[in-house]
Amino acid sequence: MDFSRHQKFIVGNYAPPALEITRGKGSILWDKNGKDYLDFASGIAVTNVGHGHPHWVKCVQQQASELVHCSNLFSIPQQVSLAERLVGEVGDGKILFCNSGAEANEALIKLSRLFGNQGQDARSKILVAKNGFHGRTLGALSATESFKYRKGFEPLLPGFVFCNYNDLQDFEKSIDDQTVAILVESIQGEGGLTVARDDFLLGLESLCNQHNLLFLIDEVQAGIARTGNFLGYQQSGAKPHAVALAKGLGGGFPIGAIWVNPEHADLFTPGSHGTTYGGSPLACAAADAVLEIIKSENLIERAKTYGEKFKKSLEELSKQFPEKITSVKGRGLMLGLGLSFDPPPLITTLHELGLITVGAAGQTLRLLPPLTVKKEEIEKALSILKSGLSQI
Ligand SMILES: *Cc1c(COP(=O)(O)O)cnc(C)c1O
Repeated sequence: MDFSRHQKFIVGNYAPPALEITRGKGSILWDKNGKDYLDFASGIAVTNVGHGHPHWVKCVQQQASELVHCSNLFSIPQQVSLAERLVGEVGDGKILFCNSGAEANEALIKLSRLFGNQGQDARSKILVAKNGFHGRTLGALSATESFKYRKGFEPLLPGFVFCNYNDLQDFEKSIDDQTVAILVESIQGEGGLTVARDDFLLGLESLCNQHNLLFLIDEVQAGIARTGNFLGYQQSGAKPHAVALAKGLGGGFPIGAIWVNPEHADLFTPGSHGTTYGGSPLACAAADAVLEIIKSENLIERAKTYGEKFKKSLEELSKQFPEKITSVKGRGLMLGLGLSFDPPPLITTLHELGLITVGAAGQTLRLLPPLTVKKEEIEKALSILKSGLSQI
């Protein structure tokens, strides 16, 4: 494929493209030449209900013809319904809408500022995890440790302290009288599919309660039914004070949100924060359709059972390639292979064989199929993976 026009007009902030994708349906994507691919990236954990789901398409089309945008000068019924649904899934509390994962984390960071600035002794330090990823805006980037994302953008926001993931003692000893919050992912996505241990999340919760800190969880990638719970942390039983959502929420239409528990929901007051597009009628109709499909098609349960079976098959595959596969990682349908080499050449080979995957840090190949994926499609992906791994 010829990408010269792409290179001429599109700023080069992404790796040069390998494919031009023009159509999708269910778990399948087609390129410009009509070649089909099994989509085991889901637009990076976004199209959790698959491409072109009829209910989603119907809701988006209908809403587009009724009202697309009117701003937060008004109450938007689609926003209220979606918020009610989210509260039903996450717990008592309220929702603030925005447009992306980075924006959702910005809102969490601003929430912790409001929390820390309440008393006389302002507190602003936030403990975050090494190898975490929270987005590319300057605030979210400041919460992201990896040099590869930060390089060239200094000076960043001060006050983020990087601790070892799954190391409760490291978090505990990093707390001082300036600390106001702890922010972690329940499964590190970009970082290479490291799953938080349940006792780690529960331990962070009690540290936060003990030291009067906000406990914040970034569910942008692990959330929205992908891991076999509505949100990734829910299997641990931990109770965060606020969480960030985006990616899978809109099923491909941009939308982000934070959920805040009742005790902290009123820290934001009229005029304190906002965004023109956040929670537009169209975005909320798209997200509401996603949540409806998750419920009617039992996708939480499906992510769990299909995920367990897929993971077992990947473990068997890893035994066939002990030199190439070092580990099988993740939970639900947020899975990955730890490799003994950098993933890009394998990703390219898999493209040729008709499978789309996505890399992550730590020589990880991520497998993120839509939650509507069929058994036969998982079987086919496994056989393509096997061919790809033999060829590489
Ligand atoms: C992708 C991601 C983000 C950033 O979301 P954007 O919509 O790209 O801004 C934040 N946190 C996590 C865990 C992510 O995976």
